[in-house]
Amino acid sequence: MNIVLLGSPGVGKGTYANILSKKYNIPHISTGDIFREAVKKRTKLGRKVKEFLDRGELVPDYITIQVVKERSEKYDAKEGFLLDGFPRTINQAEKLEEFKKIDKVLNFVAPEKAIMDRLSGRRVCKKCGAIYHIKYMKPRVEGVCDKCGGELYQRSDEKPKIIKKRLKEYSRKTKPLIDYYKKKGLLANINSNFPIEKVDKIISQCELALEK
Ligand code: AMP
Repeated sequence: MNIVLLGSPGVGKGTYANILSKKYNIPHISTGDIFREAVKKRTKLGRKVKEFLDRGELVPDYITIQVVKERSEKYDAKEGFLLDGFPRTINQAEKLEEFKKIDKVLNFVAPEKAIMDRLSGRRVCKKCGAIYHIKYMKPRVEGVCDKCGGELYQRSDEKPKIIKKRLKEYSRKTKPLIDYYKKKGLLANINSNFPIEKVDKIISQCELALEK
């Protein structure tokens, strides 16, 4: 099953995608993760996209679409995939249809206040990428990853000024996708306004929607 995950930055798509990926045995393809990894490794792609990520702006479509096309055509995605962070514009959605048929779109919904809170408190392990939150998912020792002992840091695009910009970009360019997929009869809204320890409530809504 080819699934698209929609929802504002910070709504928790990455966390839900990881769980769903194991449940359905299909890869979690996150364009944000692919770009961040490329920047970290200073690859050719990383050098091209760094400035956009640092500013909280969208990477140009011609780069992003090619990245997704290549990744979604790999062997591990032959039974399906969970697309997280793509498409983000109507143009990307139209281009996606040219190489993959989408079966379902899960749209994660939470109030803006909860989103700001989640994003600004999020911390990520430098070594293994595990995600924490300074209020809701504290590590045992402040600033240190429980899993690997790595140092926790705040993503440069999760400082308040950049968060605001990313949310604005989302409203302007990505929200229209909700209507786009609704008209195609593919959209399922998932109420994501639950604390992280209630993640099963969110996953069961996804399962119901995917069984339909
Ligand atoms: P994310 O982790 O999904 O919030 O993505 C982090 C950053 O990667 C975004 O702020 C963009 O700069 C870039 N990015 C991720 N996905 C896309 C996309 N589909 N189109 C353009 N830029 C993207």
